[in-house]
Amino acid sequence: SKKPYRWQRVLLKVSGEALAGDHTENIDPKVAIVVGGGNIFRGASWAGCSGLDRSSADYIGMLATVMNAIFLQATMESIGIPTRVQTAFRMSEVAEPYIRRRAVRHLEKGRVVIFAAGTGNPFFTTDTAAALRCAEINAEVVLKATNVDGVYDADPRQNPNARLLETVSYNEVTTRDLSVMDMTAITLCQENNIPVVVFNLQKPGNIAKAIVGEKVGTFIGC
Ligand code: UDP
Repeated sequence: SKKPYRWQRVLLKVSGEALAGDHTENIDPKVAIVVGGGNIFRGASWAGCSGLDRSSADYIGMLATVMNAIFLQATMESIGIPTRVQTAFRMSEVAEPYIRRRAVRHLEKGRVVIFAAGTGNPFFTTDTAAALRCAEINAEVVLKATNVDGVYDADPRQNPNARLLETVSYNEVTTRDLSVMDMTAITLCQENNIPVVVFNLQKPGNIAKAIVGEKVGTFIGC
């Protein structure tokens, strides 16, 4: 059978900060979304400055991702996209618990599945949750939606000569410390041969491009 798109199933990672309105288009490939929570609460930084123990802070951070997930669900459904939220720990009055086979079934039925509460464990990030869920549901790629155009060879906010990189290897990300994702997330992708596309969510049309596998942002693989 003809493969209309480069990707058949994708895992879109939307950070808390990148959560903002955008143009929406019809989406044909199957899409699962992992939402971040950094716009509301980040466990590590809070624990660092308040003396709150890290695990408690991280549970608050995970709850923040649930808020974003419910918000995203309501927004997507208001424009006619059917969704299901699944949480990594039980909040059964609010959302379904994460059940891998059920998530896959939703995707097959054309629903967008929104994964909330990260991995359900403190000391992890939602980028790691994205890599993990991607591997679990056999999605082909992690599409990391951010506020920058992709991966640069230096920090573009500090260095005006910073260049946007079209492709980078996993090893370059780790050895050149390109601060794309945390180490746990990037190595999980590498070990499972999951490519990562880093792109700017704020540019209209970018989500659609990334989802159908058109060239956008930076491609991390091999
Ligand atoms: N978090 C966690 N375990 C996870 C995922 C997230 O403890 O598996 C907590 C952690 O405190 C983190 C917060 O949730 O700071 C928000 O997630 P993240 O910082 O990854 O959000 P993003 O940067 O994508 O907005």
